[in-house]
Amino acid sequence: MADPGADRRSFWGWGLESAGPDAAQQDGIRKTMEQRLGASLELAAAPELDDLALPQSRIAPPDALASRCSTGPYDRAGHSYGKSYRDVVRGARGDFSSPPDFVAFPQDEGDVAALLDWATDAQVIVIPYGGGSSVVGGVECLLEGDYRGVVSMDLTRLDRVLEIDRASRAARIQAGILGPALENALRPHGLTLRHFPQSFEFSTLGGWIATRSGGHYATLYTHIDDFVEGMRVITPSGPVESRRLPGSGAGPSPDRLFLGSEGSLGVITEAWMRLQDRPTHRASATIRFVGADGFLRGAEAVRALSQSGLAPTNCRLLDSGEALQSGAGRGDESVLVLGFESADHGLQAWMDRALEICGDAGGLLPEDGAQIQHQAKASGAGGAQREGAAGAWRNAFLQAPYVRDVLVRMAVICETFETAVTWDRFPEFHREVTAAVQNAIGRVCGSGTVNCRFTHAYPDGAAPYYSVMAPGRRGSELEQWAEIKAAASEALIAHGGTITHHHAVGRDHRPWYDVQRPDLFGRALDAAKRELDPGHILNPGVIID
Ligand SMILES: Cc1cc2nc3c(=O)[nH]c(=O)nc-3n(C[C@H](O)[C@H](O)[C@H](O)COP(=O)(O)OP(=O)(O)OC[C@H]3O[C@@H](n4cnc5c(N)ncnc54)[C@H](O)[C@@H]3O)c2cc1C
Repeated sequence: MADPGADRRSFWGWGLESAGPDAAQQDGIRKTMEQRLGASLELAAAPELDDLALPQSRIAPPDALASRCSTGPYDRAGHSYGKSYRDVVRGARGDFSSPPDFVAFPQDEGDVAALLDWATDAQVIVIPYGGGSSVVGGVECLLEGDYRGVVSMDLTRLDRVLEIDRASRAARIQAGILGPALENALRPHGLTLRHFPQSFEFSTLGGWIATRSGGHYATLYTHIDDFVEGMRVITPSGPVESRRLPGSGAGPSPDRLFLGSEGSLGVITEAWMRLQDRPTHRASATIRFVGADGFLRGAEAVRALSQSGLAPTNCRLLDSGEALQSGAGRGDESVLVLGFESADHGLQAWMDRALEICGDAGGLLPEDGAQIQHQAKASGAGGAQREGAAGAWRNAFLQAPYVRDVLVRMAVICETFETAVTWDRFPEFHREVTAAVQNAIGRVCGSGTVNCRFTHAYPDGAAPYYSVMAPGRRGSELEQWAEIKAAASEALIAHGGTITHHHAVGRDHRPWYDVQRPDLFGRALDAAKRELDPGHILNPGVIID
């Protein structure tokens, strides 16, 4: 279905085939990483589509939908996995042993319903697929039990903004739209969803809702949940459409059932989303926390900011290693990247008070003061160009997934895991989680690093995000990764955190999600699944068995 001449998505790694570091940059990355990890690294060749030996499809598309389905190797390979470390390793090795039997590209809700009807009768698994950026095994096409085959349902043809309600500042949007197309459609109206996960370019509205993704706002509107006004979901038992409301106390919310359902209860086809006016005022500042306890003092500043009611849009605290890696710091200081935005008012007073709070917590304030912009021209994922530490951090942030593909080809283990925990527990939690992971890295890889940043902050706690880098043994990386991942997941749950703040559950987090969620609640979800998906065809194993 993809035009072979077009600049198409990589079938195994991040983003577009034509993008990412060139040969000279790859060599630069190798040298830097050799220095950082103290190991010699070798870059393996990237996989070629022509070299893949995909298993034969076990089932054929139904005649009525055949024109919307593909059995081509590019589509089957490209829909085999998401984009977790494990996925990219398998992709880079050319291991595509469980591709979908075919990929369906529904053009409208009628196609979605027809495919679900057919699949229920034919006992075929359906995996809803948005941008395929899942990092938790959420779109994997495993065939288990008595099923006859697996179909990946790619929703990216449902890609339009259908209606805009300017008075209520909301829009009805199809679920398969990718981030940039969504923002492009809203821009002429002076509006924005302003939900920018790092995967923004290659993930969809439906995927964000199905995984409860976390976006650009560091405080206040952290998850996509906050922007959903109503939604429409096609289940094997029929459609479910919630009423558009600014708020409601009418019993348990239907939207809450489908938010985070990860393709296991129905296919989200469209949603009414709450929008924002495009910001025209911005203020940003970088505050440094020097010394061995810099990160904890920075955390104290973030706690005070979160409880102040100022609601900064950006409030990313990077530990010294994270700051060094992204070019935002020198390696001996934690860095807080702080920002405010508004479409309505200047932000000097907000920033002045925030800097006062940071100063009280022992932060070194920028010598030249905060950067304040009025009527800045909004563009791209994060708006206007940023300079200094904030700009360096943002550029590194957007390039990181492409760099990870290169690191995978060098057998470097690079895992990220994220969580949230209340402030009262944070210092001990951070110490214990870091120690458990560092210990696992030492045991499994000999050396390596674990770093931390805050992605989101709340009055009652923070969402720390940890990054692991370690030299792997080529051929054994997945076993090494699994041991580190298990140690991290055990530590998160044991010390009172959540198994995920915004990366979702998928297959990879399932054992720890089962510990976290109350047992009776799990059984209530099973009952909902039986009602909505009696044939159990939708993404079995994710959230619900
Ligand atoms: C480099 C990188 C950076 C990332 N950064 C972030 C981040 O900043 N914040 C964040 O929250 N996440 C992030 N993620 C994780 C991922 O991007 C999110 O989980 C995202 O919401 C997935 O959207 P998607 O459209 O790619 O969904 P997919 O990966 O295609 O699917 C994810 C899950 O949702 C289900 N699903 C997809 N579409 C639908 C639908 N229409 N109806 C029902 N179910 C559906 C799938 O079955 C699957 O279970 C990142 C991932 C990568 C690789």
